[in-house]
Amino acid sequence: MNQHPRLSGKPGRALRCTVLGIVMAAVTGCGHDQDLLHKSQLLAMGTLVDISIWTRDDGLAQRAIATVTQELNDAEHRWHAWRPSPLTEINSKIAAGQPATVDALTRDLIKKSQILASASDNLFNPTIGKLIEVWGFHTDDRPDVPPPAQDQIDALLANAPAMADLHIDGDHVTSTNRHVQLDFGGIAKGYAVDLAVDKIRKLGVRNAIVDAGGDLRAIGSHGDRPWRIGIRNPRGPGVIASLEARGDESIFTSGDYERYFIYKGKRYHHIIDPRTGYPSTGATSATVIHSDAATADAAATALIVAGPKKWRAVAKSMGLKYVMLVDSKGTVYMTPAMAKRIKFQIEPPPKVIVAQP
Ligand code: ADP
Ligand code: MG
Repeated sequence: MNQHPRLSGKPGRALRCTVLGIVMAAVTGCGHDQDLLHKSQLLAMGTLVDISIWTRDDGLAQRAIATVTQELNDAEHRWHAWRPSPLTEINSKIAAGQPATVDALTRDLIKKSQILASASDNLFNPTIGKLIEVWGFHTDDRPDVPPPAQDQIDALLANAPAMADLHIDGDHVTSTNRHVQLDFGGIAKGYAVDLAVDKIRKLGVRNAIVDAGGDLRAIGSHGDRPWRIGIRNPRGPGVIASLEARGDESIFTSGDYERYFIYKGKRYHHIIDPRTGYPSTGATSATVIHSDAATADAAATALIVAGPKKWRAVAKSMGLKYVMLVDSKGTVYMTPAMAKRIKFQIEPPPKVIVAQP
C-alpha cells in the first residue's frame, strides 16, 4: 500500500490570514476554510484512497463520500484479478474457449482498453494476466519464491495475447485466443475514479479530489486556490515535484516502487514489459496528466514500459500533452507543456531533458 503525499496549502497562508484577518475575514471566509474541506479515507483497489470534498454543504459532502466509497468498492469486486470475481469468471470462459457474459461497464472498459492498448503499441496490455500471475503478483502476500523460469516466460510470450483478440457481440465477449487473461490492474483504478467523480458531479459536487494512493482526479479548486498535487519521488522520501491541477484533471503515476519483491539481491517489480515478459527497465516512474483518469492510468503504465528510449513515440501515438518520466539515474524527461507546470521539490533539482513527443 502506498500513498503519494499531496502537498497542502500554500505556505504562509495562515500568516496572511492573521495579518489580513481583521479586514478580510468577513469577505473571504479566511480562517473558516478548513470547515469547508471534508476528508475521508478508505481502503479500496489495493490502496489507501483519500477523498476530499470542498463544499459548504455538509450533507452533500457525506453523500459524495458514500458514493465514491460505493463506486470504488464495486469496481474492486467487479474487476478483481485473482479473488473470485466477475472478471475471473470471464477469464475462465475465455480459457475454455466459450463466450462470456459481460455487464455494460466491463464492456465499456474492454472497448476503452482496446483503444488504449492499440495506441500504446500494446505496451499497455491488460491481457497478460498469465505473465503477471507467474511473476507471483496475483497474491495479496507474495511468497518468497524465485522468478519464473525463462522457458515458462517464453511459452507465455509465444501465445501473444492482445486486446485485439477480444470481440464483443451484444452482452457477450469472445476471444480468438484462449491465452488471453484479463488483468485491469493498469487501468481499473483510473476507470473507477472516473466513474466516482462523474457520479459526485451529478450530485452537485464542484470541488473535489479522489486520490487513490497518489493517482487522482481533481475537479474545481480548494476554495480560492487551486488544488496542489505532489508527485512522489521514485527513489527517495517525499515528493519530487508539485503542480497545480486546473479545472478537471487526472494525474496518474506508475512507479516501479509500488509492488516488488527482492530475490537474491535483485529487485523485480509489478509492471511487466509485454515484449520481454520481464519487469520493465529504464524508467522508475511515469506521470501523465489527462482529462480522463482511465487514459492517464493506462498511459502511465505504457510509458514506464516504453522507458527513456520510446516514451516520446508512445506519448505521440497516445496523443498525450503532459508527460514526465524519471529514469533509473534520476534524469527527468518531460514534454514542454509538462515542464511549464512542474515545480521541483528536491535539492539539487534533477537533470531535465525536455522533448516534444
Ligand atoms: P500502479 O500500481 O503504480 O498503479 P499501474 O497503473 O502501472 O501501476 O498498474 C500496474 C498493474 O497493472 C500491475 O500490478 C498489473 O496488474 C498490471 N500490469 C502490469 N504490467 C502491465 C502492462 N504492461 N500492461 C497493462 N497492465 C499491466
Ligand atoms: Mg496505470
